Amino acid sequence: MDQSTIKKLVAENGVEFIILQFVDVIGNLKHLELPISQLEKVLEGEVMFDGSSITGFTSIENSDMYLKPDISTFAVLPWSEGKEARFICDVYTGDHKPFEGDPRSCLKRALEKAEALGYSGLNVGPEPEFFLFPLDENGNPVFTPHDEIGYFDVSAKDRGQKARQDITRTLNAMGYEVEALHHEVAIGQHEVDFKYGDALVTADRIVTFKWVVKEVAAKHGFYASFMAKPVARINGSGMHVNQSLFTASGNAFYDANDELGLSSDARHYIAGILKHARAFAAVTNPTVNSYKRLVPGYEAPCYIAWSCSNRSALIRIPAARKAATRIEVRCPDPTTNPYLALALMLVSGLDGIENKLPLVAETKENIYHMSDSIRAEKGIDALPADLNEALNCLEQDEVLKSALGRHLYDAYVSTKREEWDEYRLEVHPWEVKRYN
Ligand code: GLN
Ligand code: MG
Ligand code: MG
Ligand code: MG
Repeated sequence: MDQSTIKKLVAENGVEFIILQFVDVIGNLKHLELPISQLEKVLEGEVMFDGSSITGFTSIENSDMYLKPDISTFAVLPWSEGKEARFICDVYTGDHKPFEGDPRSCLKRALEKAEALGYSGLNVGPEPEFFLFPLDENGNPVFTPHDEIGYFDVSAKDRGQKARQDITRTLNAMGYEVEALHHEVAIGQHEVDFKYGDALVTADRIVTFKWVVKEVAAKHGFYASFMAKPVARINGSGMHVNQSLFTASGNAFYDANDELGLSSDARHYIAGILKHARAFAAVTNPTVNSYKRLVPGYEAPCYIAWSCSNRSALIRIPAARKAATRIEVRCPDPTTNPYLALALMLVSGLDGIENKLPLVAETKENIYHMSDSIRAEKGIDALPADLNEALNCLEQDEVLKSALGRHLYDAYVSTKREEWDEYRLEVHPWEVKRYN
């Protein structure tokens, strides 16, 4: 898309407002709105904002920043009847340099690294899950699931189905290709899957997806939550990330001559993911609550292993081969900052490839049912038990620290340490019940 196409689309749709979007360090979507009279300034990348008010950005002494729209992300917002359009932006410093603390720039750097190693890109297919919660008479969410049905269930009372269909229509109108929509395993839980794409495009889409789901859910009288474990003792919400590296000649993970159809690149990439998982968990599973999902028995991984079909392992290799050969990393949850999550998983895999890390044997058994001693014998490590442990692992991981860069690393870890400290000050109702 070029500038003249954008001007044409703006005129055709009668767009009144332009929304400039980006995410802060922890992945919260932010936006600045401008009336259409400012379009020229927007396209020139001359719109300024105060970076000191954004989590993890800059200090007040040095706070002038610019938003440079990525014009390929232009979209008219279907729910605004053509009156609003948005761009996702790159953040630049006051002296017009890409800002190191912009999560989007971190993913771009990781993709440049892949390119330098001969890969044309990373294809990513995410599977974000979410809950729809009902609203009370004051319009506030009630965190009790809105239905009584589970995986693929059919029910005339499935109000969520209408919401899923509307989410799909809205996403498709914004250029997505939704491939499937369904009720998930837990009561009140849903999944809408869209087609894989280039890593940067997909990270932008994940951010937009969460926004669209919340907007459309609200129209249907629901509150959409992407929290990892909103309800105790039922499945939480994950965001499996299917991924594969490509070269000019095709899928780099496929090898027709290998017994599993996996190339040596795929095996080293998996080994790299396994090596760095305890550290990247601090980003892919970024909240105190995230670790309540990573427990045995709820289809979420807790142990660091890989397998072709076993859903208790961290990495599963879906059955598809040839161009569709990919690995599915199962630990991320939808509260992650997708730019940082994709950057860190990619850099982990590339570390495996660059250093030809050997891949451990596949784990075919259900790891949830394995005793600690058997796991220890097989060398199967556990994912961190909580956010604090994950942050400690990230602090020890030089490969991931350098992938984040100094600014993002410091800003991310200090924000998350504060969150952990705040949590430690609380007394949970369970504790009072148990220890009074
Ligand atoms: N909800 C599960 C999780 O937490 C995944 C369930 C599934 O997609 N099979 O990861
Ligand atoms: Mg799925
Ligand atoms: Mg699912
Ligand atoms: Mg999956």
